[in-house]
Amino acid sequence: MHPSNIPILGELTPGTTQRHLIKLPGAALANDEPRPVISVAGAKPGPVLFVNAGVHGGEYPAVEAVIRLGKTLDPKKISGTVILMPVLNLPAFRTRTPFVCPIDNVNPNRVFPGDPRGSYSEQMTHACINEFVVHADAYVDLHGGDIPEALVPFVICRAGNDEVAKKSKAIAMAFGLPYVLTVSKPVQPSKGHRAGAGGLSSYAAAADKGTPAILAEAGGAGQMQEEAVSLLVNGVVNVMRHLGMIDDAKFESHIANSETNSKPKPKKTARSAVATTVLTKFDWLYTKSTGVWYPKVAQGDAVREGEQIGTVGDLFGDTLEEIASPVNGVVLFLTISPSVLENGLLMGIGVE
Ligand SMILES: [Zn+2]
Repeated sequence: MHPSNIPILGELTPGTTQRHLIKLPGAALANDEPRPVISVAGAKPGPVLFVNAGVHGGEYPAVEAVIRLGKTLDPKKISGTVILMPVLNLPAFRTRTPFVCPIDNVNPNRVFPGDPRGSYSEQMTHACINEFVVHADAYVDLHGGDIPEALVPFVICRAGNDEVAKKSKAIAMAFGLPYVLTVSKPVQPSKGHRAGAGGLSSYAAAADKGTPAILAEAGGAGQMQEEAVSLLVNGVVNVMRHLGMIDDAKFESHIANSETNSKPKPKKTARSAVATTVLTKFDWLYTKSTGVWYPKVAQGDAVREGEQIGTVGDLFGDTLEEIASPVNGVVLFLTISPSVLENGLLMGIGVE
């Protein structure tokens, strides 16, 4: 036995997988349903990797990827410890609420690193950072398109030349998705709620605390795409290999063979090389009008500056707005549900 690297989990036994039900600290969270956490304590010492999903409650392939890692990672073959939390924002998951936490209507991924005296989401992100992220050597936050969104798989991390940013980018590249986006400022300004709780996304707050971190996205549209689950599972395994937590070539077949509910297996294995394009700017487009959204592009499409990429109409069928791309880039995510509100988010375009 050795003392846990993650105090809230108590003692972990090397070479075992343990299930925990965790009450996070914070007065606003006192009546919460306990959150499932799985610890996979390797037989040999090594880094601590923290992986969570469900910061957004409707991003299901990410949640399933964490569940599957807990069922399939073999602690006897691991150096170090993997801590897995399938759903952080449990109130949103239970109520199928996209983007925000229904208790305070705040997007948790805009209020990292949180505030122990703030609203529900601020206390929740504060607990995530202080109980888990600061005790880890690396942090992976799994996302996807939310219930009304579609996207191409990509990874985000903080830009910069400091040690943490460099390590974060190396982890992002190791994850093995088609796009890596390095950003130096928040992707979306925090609005509609008070400043002071940080106003950062998970990976940026983690980097501020000195923990190399990435945010990886796959799947969307409120569904459970098996291909997206596999991409995220394989991505985390790739990160573990990058961190020196696994070196056994048999490890992959172990993962692949133990996928129980799997439909046809993805052709790419965890080790296959993916050509990753690095993007350095993320342009988010909004509609001025409340109405009906008719996109003319799909996720993954290349767009040119000035190209018309969709329209917003009213309920008589008249066009209210023509949306043109402000940049040359690739559509990383877009809203696919037709109903949009004034200042509503339409899509995010990544720029090289
Ligand atoms: Zn998300």
